[in-house]
Amino acid sequence: MSISVFEIIGPVMIGPSSSHTAGMARIGMMANRIVDENMTAVHLSLSPMLKNTYRGHRTDAALIGGTIGLRENSPDIRNAIDIAYSRGIATDVDFLSADAYPQNTALIRVDCLSGRKVSVLGTSVGGGSIIISSVDGVKMGIAPDAFHLIIWSNAALPDALLPPEVKVQSGAGEGGWVTCMTFPRMPEEALTARIRETPGVQKISVVPPVLEYGVSLPTVRELLSCEEACTLAESRRISLSEVAVQYEMSRSGFSRENIRSRMADHLRQIKASVQAGSGENHLLYGLASGRDSKMLMQKVRDGATISGGIIPLAVARALGVMEYNGSMGCIVAAPTAGSSGIVPGCMTTVQDAYRLSDDQLVDALFVSGLMGVIMAGREVSFSGSVGGCQGEVGVSSAISAAGLASLFTGEPRKIVHAMAICLKNLLGLVCDPIAGPIEIPCIKRNAVGVGNAFISADMALAGIESFIPPDEVIDALVDVERRLPQELKCATVGGLASTCTAKRVRKELSK
Ligand code: SF4
Repeated sequence: MSISVFEIIGPVMIGPSSSHTAGMARIGMMANRIVDENMTAVHLSLSPMLKNTYRGHRTDAALIGGTIGLRENSPDIRNAIDIAYSRGIATDVDFLSADAYPQNTALIRVDCLSGRKVSVLGTSVGGGSIIISSVDGVKMGIAPDAFHLIIWSNAALPDALLPPEVKVQSGAGEGGWVTCMTFPRMPEEALTARIRETPGVQKISVVPPVLEYGVSLPTVRELLSCEEACTLAESRRISLSEVAVQYEMSRSGFSRENIRSRMADHLRQIKASVQAGSGENHLLYGLASGRDSKMLMQKVRDGATISGGIIPLAVARALGVMEYNGSMGCIVAAPTAGSSGIVPGCMTTVQDAYRLSDDQLVDALFVSGLMGVIMAGREVSFSGSVGGCQGEVGVSSAISAAGLASLFTGEPRKIVHAMAICLKNLLGLVCDPIAGPIEIPCIKRNAVGVGNAFISADMALAGIESFIPPDEVIDALVDVERRLPQELKCATVGGLASTCTAKRVRKELSK
């Protein structure tokens, strides 16, 4: 599966967490499509490390919401457990017994009205991206960006029924033999009809992708380095934004118009979140004031900030979007919800200050998205619980720096050096939210991401380069992500979460 630019500048989602809320809603939605029947109960079993965070991040509501058919951007996610109850669906939560599963894993066991029981195991891998790794205990990789047929039968399907060009995974499961076939497009009705009529077949579910921006085509031209992207741009005399658009066209098969208009939609949603976050925000847990953005905005209006106008205004907007995210507002993860203030703060402020058009901003968002695609291809994790905050705020700051620089230069190498300078400054940043909610220190940390992005872009535009080449800086991030101790990856035990104040707050919240 090759990652889309809309996974970096996206998804559009209800806050507060892309890994623990949006990704979980998507795992639930995959379960909904795999089960494909009326339900009477949904039982959730979560990774042990989610114990401290699942309430604060509304992980249970998101999983239940997805399982009953709600998308990650549906405001109803907020009340999903009540909605399930009103539909006669009982819910409960417990925890997987051992750490045998990857971080951020959920096992969803569904009781159907028909008496069937189906289980789906999924992992949220950061920024809203997910993997489904088993159905009814049968190990199988079910990608969220492809079409699948899931078939339950008494025994293995006859070979003659398995199309030779199609990937097939199967095994003996808890309720019979389970087969998964993967297709780049909707499987033909004739095939599903043939399978349905085969003796011993009990049930067949047609599972379309949960990612709405298309499947990953096998013909995709992968982009795995800044060097390759710059060489491509220079040899074809095109911008990095155009490199990103061509990549997305080859990945999804969608037209240029479709792809640009989708990014324009994301920009509109970004602006809406800036607007919505600029007032008083009512945070889920109220650990932050919900008025920090408003307070700084007033200082900017009064001309009373030490550092001038642009950066403080961008910071105020970033704080506002993060406060709105913490209130379960609808935001654009970029690349995650925990870092969703940085791109909006930077982009909307520079647009106002330099009277840039929406089209120019869309181009800059593609450049930011391209940087994230390259990072993902080099195995950067965008999940605080896998790689620390450097993979969230650090990455968001770096892709924002590249986007900002692209608005003022056509030289690809200056743009990727802006990214690299910026990323280096936040290497090692730990993930240590106090007591679970994405409030402290997440909201204010976005402010640092904004300042870092502007300063790094300015340095790169002046011709200053990162001594370590940009691709090696990305690899260094991967190295630090892997070396960072687990206590400093959203475990709510290390860093700021280890302070007396954090312990007191955790105790109070657990009551
Ligand atoms: S500390 Fe950073 S990585 Fe951790 S939850 Fe907050 S924003 Fe996300």
